[in-house]
Amino acid sequence: MLDRYNRKINYLRISVTDRCNLRCHYCMPENDPCLLRHEDILSFEEIQQVVAVAVSLGIDKVRLTGGEPLVRKDIVDLVSMIAEVPGLQDLAMTTNATLLERFAMPLARAGLQRINISLDTVDPVKFREITRGGDIQQVFAGIRSAKKAGLEPVKVNCVIQGGPGEVDMEADALSVAGYCRENGLQVRFIPKMDLHTGQFGIVYGGTGGDCKQCNRLRLTSDGKMKPCLFSDLAFDIRSLGIQKAMEMALEAKPEKGTVNLSNCFHNIGG
Ligand code: SAM
Ligand code: SF4
Repeated sequence: MLDRYNRKINYLRISVTDRCNLRCHYCMPENDPCLLRHEDILSFEEIQQVVAVAVSLGIDKVRLTGGEPLVRKDIVDLVSMIAEVPGLQDLAMTTNATLLERFAMPLARAGLQRINISLDTVDPVKFREITRGGDIQQVFAGIRSAKKAGLEPVKVNCVIQGGPGEVDMEADALSVAGYCRENGLQVRFIPKMDLHTGQFGIVYGGTGGDCKQCNRLRLTSDGKMKPCLFSDLAFDIRSLGIQKAMEMALEAKPEKGTVNLSNCFHNIGG
């Protein structure tokens, strides 16, 4: 699929839940994040149909994200349903890895190929602060388990912090880079973004954040097809039909991101 600016769109990121077991301060409010009603969340069958239609239109790469994808009940079953879609080349997931130790092997067997893990520091105390309560040992165990399960390459997403009162950005980024080197992991540094003010930047070591190179569409967990992370445009697959919603999102894909006042990272998927 080519969009109006001649960008080849072959990548769909699917948010499978807006729930999360962590509360990273740059992503989710501590209390009462405004969460979707369970009945509005797409079923596995709906998600599988979206992937089938997407592949028929030219998508060959799918990433599952969230919220935290591993808190979605029976996520392994969803992975196998998606992996069955003929023509899909690449199936990946982005996770905080706190639950990955037990899920890595079943996910790999179900057809997950690759995994990205979010890790902003290797300091257990700072990790607990950033995530408001997370246990970094679970993440390390998850990473070991992902490697053992053959989910290669394991990539690490490190959001670069900044600003007064926040953790020491440089030291943390360096510590994560060192940890990744020692453990054979690829690392990408993501500048902290703000959907509501339109502040975003290029991902170092990755492909995100560069509008000229953008190859993605996004699906929210309640079935809105979004042409851009930094846009309020959204096309409802339930009312429009999957193919129509996807075609409209492609047609409406802006040349550049601006702002997104309707979503937060935890409900659009980062
Ligand atoms: N829970 C999973 C995780 O943390 O990997 C998947 C969802 S999370 C929303 C996806 C990615 O978005 C993570 O790598 C996270 O670091 C990133 N993210 C969240 N809020 C962000 C922000 N304000 N700026 C930049 N990246 C952000
Ligand atoms: Fe949860 Fe991921 Fe957002 Fe952190 S970045 S609160 S782990 S969804």
